[in-house]
Formats: sequence, structure tokens, C-alpha cells
Amino acid sequence: MTALAGVTPAYAKKLERLGILTVGDLLQHYPRRHEDFSRTVPVIFLADGAKQTVKVQVEQVRRRPGGRGRLATEAFLSDDSGRMKAIWFNQPYMAQTLHVGDEVVLSGKVQKDRRGGGLAMMNPAFERGTTGGLHTGRLVPLYPETYGLTSKWIRARIDAAMDSADQMRDEVPADVERSQALPSLPRAIRQVHYPNDEEELNQARKRIAFRQLLLMQIAVLISREQREHQVAPKIAYDVERARAIRDALPFDLTDAQRKAAHFIFKDMAEPRPMARLLQGDVGSGKTAVAAMAAAMASRAGYQTLLMAPTEILAQQHARTLRPYLEPLQMRMDLLVGSTTAANRRRILDELSQGDLDLLVGTHALIEPTVVPRSLGLVVSDEQHRFGVGQREALAQRSGTFPHVLSMTATPIPRTLQLTLYGDLTVSVLDQMPPGRQVVETRMVPAAQRQEAYDFVRGQVAGGRQVFVICPLVEDSDLIQARSATSEHERLQKEVFPEMRLALLHGRMKPAEKDGVMEAFKAGEFQILVSTSVVEVGVDVPNATVMMIEGAERFGLAQLHQFRGRVGRGEHKAFCLLLSDAEGADSADSNRRLDAMVRYSSGFDLAEEDLKIRGPGDLIGATGAQHGHDAGLLVAGLLDVRLIAAAREEAERLVRQGLDPAMVRAAQGFHIAGSLS
Ligand code: ADP
Ligand code: MG
Repeated sequence: MTALAGVTPAYAKKLERLGILTVGDLLQHYPRRHEDFSRTVPVIFLADGAKQTVKVQVEQVRRRPGGRGRLATEAFLSDDSGRMKAIWFNQPYMAQTLHVGDEVVLSGKVQKDRRGGGLAMMNPAFERGTTGGLHTGRLVPLYPETYGLTSKWIRARIDAAMDSADQMRDEVPADVERSQALPSLPRAIRQVHYPNDEEELNQARKRIAFRQLLLMQIAVLISREQREHQVAPKIAYDVERARAIRDALPFDLTDAQRKAAHFIFKDMAEPRPMARLLQGDVGSGKTAVAAMAAAMASRAGYQTLLMAPTEILAQQHARTLRPYLEPLQMRMDLLVGSTTAANRRRILDELSQGDLDLLVGTHALIEPTVVPRSLGLVVSDEQHRFGVGQREALAQRSGTFPHVLSMTATPIPRTLQLTLYGDLTVSVLDQMPPGRQVVETRMVPAAQRQEAYDFVRGQVAGGRQVFVICPLVEDSDLIQARSATSEHERLQKEVFPEMRLALLHGRMKPAEKDGVMEAFKAGEFQILVSTSVVEVGVDVPNATVMMIEGAERFGLAQLHQFRGRVGRGEHKAFCLLLSDAEGADSADSNRRLDAMVRYSSGFDLAEEDLKIRGPGDLIGATGAQHGHDAGLLVAGLLDVRLIAAAREEAERLVRQGLDPAMVRAAQGFHIAGSLS
């Protein structure tokens, strides 16, 4: 990357954290949206609050104090129609950059000038000359800004890299391109960043989405085809045993659980490896279904590995499973990072001797030291990256391919299932166990913050516990969000001095995090202030309030996950959505928060989410997608005709025989198949 002008090693590091390692990756770092600065207006048409572009001449430039310790650069500008000001804060170099008489193009937000009374642009983008180019006077791309890389910086780098677009490998055959009336890939790449107009932008998106869909479909077909030749242990569907398993559970199964278990038993009785996705909202009882599958496997003499994304979730699974399995005399153990060396040796030994029926752990269970005597089933919880390679590694150690059951609480709208999970059979737990309560959800306007705190106080006085979620770990100028760290301090000092507050965030070590969660669960703290790391798992039945700060910053899927942390006990539970939003994106965020208040089911929310913003977030949430092209799928996934065309093409290409490069490209791309 450092070969590219402007990319110092420090910048290369930041790019690396975005998953951008090559010029090709950079070109595929697509903009989130474009700002329409394509039309210039005469100064006289500037409107307070609008985002506009002007072509003006510099009349005067000066520096002055900008209030609150800031330094402002102020420019007086004009065109034939009138005069205006531009003000830049904390960009002292602006005073040297602009000279009287310069012709410049400015794009930015127009506001009333508090000093002069006229209109001014605040911190506008500017370019010299009369046409604009990258940052003004066009549809200007805005990139997801991360790790201190601004859109402006990324824009210039992508522009510099653009010539390489011609060398990008393209999997879409030229005749397909023609028959679909799509632009060439290099053209599409150029237009998706720097579109001439909306129409070209749409065509470019479609072209790129088509390539993504094609690769996804090819990967799905490859994975399905591979499974045809894989041998898995046949685990007989023993009806007596099924009854015994059911009777051993401490509750009656929901119909959805019963049905899912039935199909899993049928799958496992086949000599082909099962590839089933068990989808169910938080609390729908997926673990019990997994337990039944493991119990059936053990009956036939086969072992099960259950893998969770984190150590604490693995522990929680083990706790949930123990009472299910004990009456069946199944031998279960837990292997995690904190397991002592001696225990670890014993557990691995028992596993390889066949003295364990079920081993629960993190994905470290994939490691070569873990050698089951007769592996029959792998259950993978919330781990979408359980890929082809992992299956093969396990198969090599145990001689046959295991049956794989993936579990997820991420709701995938029905409209997307075929595209994303075309090679998996999906079971849905669309029913909650009886007695599960709906979490009462409310939006809390800024003015009612005090009342929300009083409410929290009341709940704590009643013996309950409370989660407070904050969007960031540390305060950042870029995003004015309350950080967990400072919010923890503030709440402890100013709002709830009489209570014990704990802090949890992603920069803590895993053991520290687990320690805090355990202590909270044990009731040592009344309030847990946390970043989004509490999102998955961990039952704290005594917690009744989920208070989410900056709620407008989270996607629906994530908000729903947070809410699922409460309402798991006997007490009525509440979700409070606090938002400090001023302006930005507010229409969409209001719709999201509104949907949270109205819907309690993850599936309803997912459908709503799809309507509001397309499936971009959803893809992001499934995790396996390359960060840099996630958003682009939005266009394609909503386009049913495009999906059908991609599938047809994929089938044709697979029939004709794929070259190895294509296979690699498809597998590197595989979103859903990585589940199988
Ligand atoms: P999930 O993993 O889908 O979020 P769990 O399997 O952890 O859900 O189940 C959540 C809780 O509901 C557990 O405490 C479990 O014992 C309980 N549970 C599961 N199935 C039922 C059922 N059919 N009836 C009553 N309680 C159930
Ligand atoms: Mg679970």
C-alpha cells in the first residue's frame, strides 16, 4: 500500500485495520453514500440549513478567535450575485491556503453567520479553480470513517489508485455483462466512487452487486456439491430415544423446537453431513434443541463439540445444558482458556478415549490438540465463520465429516434466506417459550432524562439490576457520543453516588470482562455501564432495565440484541431508548427507534430494517463479509431479478467447469456457505 502516494506506513496500518491490504481492496472500499454537490448555485440562492455548492472569488481572508478556545479562519467571498462568508474552525492552514483573488469552489452546509448576519458556510470542502473535482462540485463520495481516516483522505487515495481498476480481476464473463446490459468492472468501480450522475451510480452499483451475487451463488453451489461427496456418520433416528430426551427436559418443548429437533434427527440419519441453520430469537430455546441433537448423537456412540464465540457464552451454555443432560447420563465438560492445564489434559484425554459425550468450548475446540474419538456433531453458536476449512480439519482428525448445526439469533428476513443461505437448510424457532414477557420499550426524549434516572433508582431500590449501554469507549470529537468510560464516571459521581456501578468495554482483557460480567450476575453491582460488548449472550435474570444511550447510533439488529439481555426473569422488564441526535440521519433513526417501540419480534424488526435501510447492516451483522464491500450488496439483494440472473449464471458457469482462480474467489467471498 505504501507504494501509493500519500500512504505512509502509519496510514497503511490504519488501512490494514479496515481490511485494506492492496490497491484492489482500496478500490473496493465503497462509499456509504454520496453528497450531492453537483449543482452550483449563485450566492444569492444560498439557503439557511441547506448543503450547497458555490463558485466564488476570495475577497479577504483573516484569522480570529473562534470561541471556546478555537481559532477560526474567515473568508469573505463573492460572485456576480452577492457576497458570503466561509468559516473554518481549527484549520489554521486555511489562512495561508486561500489568497485574495483566488477562484474557488466550496461545498458545505449553509448557516446564518452569527456575527455578520448574512449567510456563511461552516467548514466547507473547497477546491481551487472553477470546476471542483474530488471534494466539491460533483456527487462527492462519503466513506465510512474509521481509525482516523477521513473521507477526504480516502477520496484522494482512491482517486490516485483509480488507474489500477483496469487490472482488477473480473469474474463476470463479457457475454454476461452484455446480456445483462451492465457496465464493465473498471467503469463501474470508477462510477461507484465518482459517479457522473445518479443513473450511472445505480448502474455501477448493480454491476458490482452482480459480481458479488455471482460469487456468492457459485460458492453456495460449490459447497452443496462438495457435500454430496462427503461422508458423515449415520445417526439412527431412534424414536424411543427421542421421547426419552424430550421427557428429560425440565419443560415442555414449543412446537417450533419440536419441529426443529425432528428435522435435525432426520438430517443426522443421512450419510451426508447435515448443514442446518437454526435461527431463533434470543431466548427462543436454541440450546435445548442443540442438547437434543447431542443426546441423539451420543445414543449412537458419537460425540458432539459445541462452540461459542466467547468463553463466557461457553460457560453459560454449559450451565444451561447440564440439567438437560444429567437425567440422560450424558457426560459433558467445558474447555475454555481459563481451564487449568491439568483439567485440560484430563478433558482432552477423556474426549479422545470416548469418555465424553459433549465438549463445550470456544472455537479453540478446532485446534489440532482436540481429537475426539468419534465426532458426530458440531454445534456452532453465533459463529458465522465456521467454514469449509474448519470442517475439513475436523474431518481429517476423525475420518468422517461431522454433521453441523449452526445457531444464530440474527434474524434473516425470508426474502434473503435463499441468497445468503442457499446451501443450508434453515429451521426457524418462531415461537417463544410460554411465559416469556414482552419488554416494555420507550423512547426517552432529552427532557425526560431525569425521570429515566428516577425510574432506574426505583428499580434498583426494588432489588433489580440495570444495564446502561454507551456507543463508544472514549470520548471522540468525531462522534459526539457518550463514552462508556466517562459515562460510568459521571453516573457514579453525579447521578447514582449511592450505588455500585461496574464498567465493561471492548478494550478490557477477556478475563477482566468475564470477571465483571460474573460479578454483575452475582449481584455485586447494581448498574453495569457497557459498550456494545454485552450484546451477545449472558443471562442476568435479575436485570430489568436496558437503558441505551445514543440509541439512534445503533442498528435495529443490535438494539434488539441489547433488549434481549433483559426480560429473562420473573420481573417485568423495560428498555429505554435515549437519543441525543441533532439532525443527522434523524428520519431513519426515528423510524428505527419507532420500530423498536412497536415490534418485539426480531423477525418483524428485521423485515422493517430491510425496508428502512436495505440489508447492508444485516450482511454486516452476519460477520463474514469483507468489511469493504458489505454495503454494496444492498442494491443487489433487494433486486430479485438480479439475484435470479446471478443464480442462473452461476449454475451455467459451474456446469461448464470452474477454473481454480474462480473457485478461490468464490470461497473467499462466501458469506453464508462459511456457515456450513
Ligand atoms: P437461546 O439460545 O435461543 O437464546 P436458550 O436456549 O438459552 O435460548 O433458552 C433461554 C431460556 O429459556 C433458558 O433458560 C431455557 O432453559 C429456557 N427454555 C428453553 N426452551 C424452553 C421451553 N420450551 N419452555 C420453557 N423454557 C424454555
Ligand atoms: Mg443462546
